[in-house]
Amino acid sequence: MAWQGIEGHDAIAADFAAAHARGRVAGTYLFIGPPGVGKASFARKLAKALVCPNPRAGLVPCDGCASCIQAEAGSHPDIDVVHKPEDRATIPLESLIGDSDHRMREGLCWRLLLKPTLGGRKVAIVLDADHLSDESANCLLKTLEEPPPEAVVILVGTALERQLATIRSRCRIVRFRPLTGDDLVRVLVAERGADAAVDPRVRASAAMAGGGLHRARLLLDDDLMAFRGRLLGMLGSRPLPGVDLARDVLAFVEAAGKEAPPRRARLRTVLEFAIEFFRAALRREAADQPPSDPELAAATASWGGGAERATAGLHHTLDALDGIDRNANLTMLVDAWTALLEEPRLSQAS
Ligand SMILES: [Zn+2]
Repeated sequence: MAWQGIEGHDAIAADFAAAHARGRVAGTYLFIGPPGVGKASFARKLAKALVCPNPRAGLVPCDGCASCIQAEAGSHPDIDVVHKPEDRATIPLESLIGDSDHRMREGLCWRLLLKPTLGGRKVAIVLDADHLSDESANCLLKTLEEPPPEAVVILVGTALERQLATIRSRCRIVRFRPLTGDDLVRVLVAERGADAAVDPRVRASAAMAGGGLHRARLLLDDDLMAFRGRLLGMLGSRPLPGVDLARDVLAFVEAAGKEAPPRRARLRTVLEFAIEFFRAALRREAADQPPSDPELAAATASWGGGAERATAGLHHTLDALDGIDRNANLTMLVDAWTALLEEPRLSQAS
């Protein structure tokens, strides 16, 4: 059975349980692994187990004490979680050390110095560690160098090379692997009920998800996959219908609702589909390898734009993705992106 219901990472859980049993839990960890494999969930469950006064064997929280109930509700006073806000490019400095009026009197680093409220440990989790600014990272360094006794700091990022060397060198690195198809099926069945176990689409999406749960869920969203089919059709057309593409993408993004965060999330997914297309087109140019996904295979087959155009398209799309993180106006961003796909700046890509 999976450790605390988290699929695919029992070996990591066993390592933590062994360290805990020997009283050798480290003060700082850096979790690294692809998106959607459960790193943040693992960090939260680990925090819950570390602050529980009566964990069972295998570092499993008792689930009955006040600490476990608060941890499960996300309101434990000794578990601190910061992440990058949806509309910011980086984790704001104030979430680590307080705003300019309350420097080192608020924020995660300051709270970590306080005595544990419930008497046990304190755990701080920094999600989106890929998005620590240099300034924020520097503020964290002192905490990482000398974490308060009994405190545990967990940073969660996607790739080691996206972390500053100064951060990397101060953390114990824990690598999370992509989930297997069977892991994903188990998670999807737990989410959707027993019927999902016999749904062939569930197994197909798990097989195509590349080990990420987020991706597997997307593949089961019929509206989204219908849009992906239209998007791939347009990306594969020559000449590329830039105006139609912009109109369809914006309509699809606006259908996510009036609020900005779901609109940004939806555009991010659209751009990730486009990135997938240009990467597949490049592979096809380089090695004549058709993708296994039939829609992607058809779109890249009809495309024939050459490696240089595929590289330029990939660059322009990655830039657009950065624009979402920088909180750019989405309409302008989509217009600029589609115009560049129509008339790519080939020199920029070289
Ligand atoms: Zn407990």
